[in-house]
Amino acid sequence: MVTTAVRTSSVELRDIHVSFGTLEVLRGVDLKVPSGKTTCVIGPSGSGKSTLLRCVNRLQEPDSGDLLLDGESVIKADPDALRQRVGMVFQHFNLFGHRSVLDNIVLPLRSVKKLGKEEAAEIARARLAEVGLADKAPYRPSALSGGQQQRVAIARALAMDPEVMLFDEATSALDPELVKGVLNLMAGLAERGLTLIVVTHEMGFARSVADEVAFMDAGKIVEQGPPARLFDEPQSPRLQRFLSQVL
Ligand code: ADP
Ligand code: MG
Repeated sequence: MVTTAVRTSSVELRDIHVSFGTLEVLRGVDLKVPSGKTTCVIGPSGSGKSTLLRCVNRLQEPDSGDLLLDGESVIKADPDALRQRVGMVFQHFNLFGHRSVLDNIVLPLRSVKKLGKEEAAEIARARLAEVGLADKAPYRPSALSGGQQQRVAIARALAMDPEVMLFDEATSALDPELVKGVLNLMAGLAERGLTLIVVTHEMGFARSVADEVAFMDAGKIVEQGPPARLFDEPQSPRLQRFLSQVL
């Protein structure tokens, strides 16, 4: 159970365009996520979901459009400063394999937040305890299950005290029996009032946790609304077809 008080921000994307060569991957995306709310992004493979998420912490720089945090444009802000405010969790964890679980959290705290050794270790231990892995601190990530490794990755992101968290198919690489623990942890973050943008294939999670669901297809958000409306009364033929394939 995660209990630390949090400062959160709203996120807004305005008319975001991204192309790779001649391939237009995002074709004018607008998305608003109010502070403390959770938006799940669903859609077929290749529709631009990961690219959209990467624009929110500017791992991908849009060709045009604006990005606002807390109502202020951060499209020209220092990307490193932005990434301290916007944490991201990936499908494949991206942990340092040759370092201990504790160091995986301590090292970014030291290099990015410039914290001293003791303080960084104290925060890292607290975050590990929050995700139920206090006893795993000395191990290498490879000694942990995929679900545990993903929880370490989440603890590492949380250690930065982000105002927004992005999840890109965080459970897609996990064995089925490990998915639930990670989804529960994410649901706990939503409950605690962090602003979350979650790209997921877990429709049950989207339905029960999301405040809003956005359906992407071919580089655009085709339909967006509360989960009950999107899942039970899809308007566009493309969403109807997508849901008939995944539900
Ligand atoms: P999704 O996450 O919905 O599967 P992505 O955002 O990963 O979609 O990709 C959207 C499209 O952009 C795909 O056709 C993909 O091949 C292409 N793409 C993504 N990243 C790059 C890149 N760095 N260079 C070229 N094409 C890319
Ligand atoms: Mg993707």
